Amino acid sequence: MDRRKFNQSLFGAGFAAALPSSVFAAAMASATRITADIVAVTRTGGETTVTKAALKELQHGLRGPLIMPGNAGYDTARRVWNGMIDKHPALIARCSGAADVMQAVDFARDNDLLVAVRGGGHNIAGKAVCEGGLVIDLSAMRGCRVDPENKTARLVGGSLLGDLDHECQRFGLATTSGTVSHTGAAGLTLGGGHGRLARSLGLTCDNVVSVDIVTADGQLRHASADENSDLYWGVRGGGGNFGVVTSFEYQLHPVGPVVYGGTLMYPLAQARDILRFYADFAQDAPDELAVDVIMLSPPGGKGFVILSVCYNGDLQKGEKLVKPLRTFIKPAVDGLGPTPYLEMQTSADASTPAGKLYYNKSGLMGNLEDGAIDGLVDRLLVAGDQPDPGVASNVIIQHLGGAVGQVRSGETAYVHRDAKHDVLILSGWEDPAYTEQNIAWLREGYSAIEPYTIGFYSNHMVDSDQPKSKLAFRSNYKRLVKVKNEYDPENLFHLNANVRPTV
Ligand SMILES: Cc1cc2nc3c(=O)[nH]c(=O)nc-3n(C[C@H](O)[C@H](O)[C@H](O)COP(=O)(O)OP(=O)(O)OC[C@H]3O[C@@H](n4cnc5c(N)ncnc54)[C@H](O)[C@@H]3O)c2cc1C
Repeated sequence: MDRRKFNQSLFGAGFAAALPSSVFAAAMASATRITADIVAVTRTGGETTVTKAALKELQHGLRGPLIMPGNAGYDTARRVWNGMIDKHPALIARCSGAADVMQAVDFARDNDLLVAVRGGGHNIAGKAVCEGGLVIDLSAMRGCRVDPENKTARLVGGSLLGDLDHECQRFGLATTSGTVSHTGAAGLTLGGGHGRLARSLGLTCDNVVSVDIVTADGQLRHASADENSDLYWGVRGGGGNFGVVTSFEYQLHPVGPVVYGGTLMYPLAQARDILRFYADFAQDAPDELAVDVIMLSPPGGKGFVILSVCYNGDLQKGEKLVKPLRTFIKPAVDGLGPTPYLEMQTSADASTPAGKLYYNKSGLMGNLEDGAIDGLVDRLLVAGDQPDPGVASNVIIQHLGGAVGQVRSGETAYVHRDAKHDVLILSGWEDPAYTEQNIAWLREGYSAIEPYTIGFYSNHMVDSDQPKSKLAFRSNYKRLVKVKNEYDPENLFHLNANVRPTV
């Protein structure tokens, strides 16, 4: 699909997506032939029969294609970023706009179907798809319209972070987004949104001005500080619990387009010294400066520690500020300098390709303690310790604090305003024969640093962590339940860091 056709296209208030007619002509030509009733999975895990007539009505009511098993493209459509996820939905409604989303939500509710909502499909636990239910798939709903005068952007609900960054940077503007451009904007924003600009501009969710959202009753609602303000509070950190967001409006800020930053690389053997130095440096850094750490432990064991630097301010000031990082230990590779922000935002894309088998564990921390550093180095980076010779394990430490901590913990649903670092251990491998061992190794290794964590970021939640939903929302959980009771009392949207309704 030609993305340029989408860029800058204006998706109107009702968000009937301005998709090229050829896409729909092709979809119609290969439209699924519905020949019989089907058996599908219900919201609560039972079985239900969906009649041929009902299916035809759904298909007729959608502008985008309804994809079913046996349909060309079904196997591609059910795949997500994590190759370990192998679910078989009964129905995939690839929506073209808000009208399709409303149609799909109505259908799911009226037929009591299990529902998954797909944005960018990057949730590691594969929450974007489901076994035997209906996937409301927004992956064809991409587009961004920048209003340079008011410094806002309207982003369609299935867009990727790269869509947002690319359009905004043309105007020298940006808002906080994540570090890999093929990640979905919707899932990331709804859970919070950690990124290189968070310390200077706040989380992605802190920059949400409004959303359009289809709630469980099938209504399209606008939520902002002035309208449906409880819903507006909930979507800024409460995940996909309240409905399907068809568009986000973000506050933008002048950024770059060239910022000071890049990467410094050191041999992995120096990890402990680097982390000790980093812990103090990160604590004292000004809000405009974010320094993330990536420790790569690839197959074979020869890895690197990378400091990924982004200074959102005057270039010369940035260069001066980061000087201690280049001098305390001489890096093996010094890649710091004036760097296009967009280049920085796509620099990690290739290292996390779709289709590999992935697993992660993560926790939020305050300032990095020596015990946590020792745990990371001794337990997780010991060469030769991993059972699978083909596994690549990365430790990623995202620098939080700054503007993130200047928002009160009850002001948005994202609660972890005291966190200074998000520590994520991510393993990726190819051979399914090692899956069990790799997961066990990662979990065991993580236990060495878990005592130093103070909370848990809902966007990194894996299936085994589901009981941790309450921990992910801490003191905001009660209020989230209230919002859930109001907008999704039947828990139609529960494939997420779930907030259980009590009505
Ligand atoms: C390579 C990679 C890099 C990452 N980097 C970062 C990072 O820098 N910062 C960070 O904060 N996180 C990061 N993450 C985590 C990321 O925030 C989550 O994986 C997030 O869920 C991705 O959103 P998505 O739309 O792609 O996910 P999906 O898998 O499509 O969905 C995730 C969840 O959101 C719900 N959802 C999706 N779209 C909508 C919608 N339109 N309306 C309502 N609910 C919806 C889904 O139902 C599901 O519960 C990264 C993940 C990966 C895989």
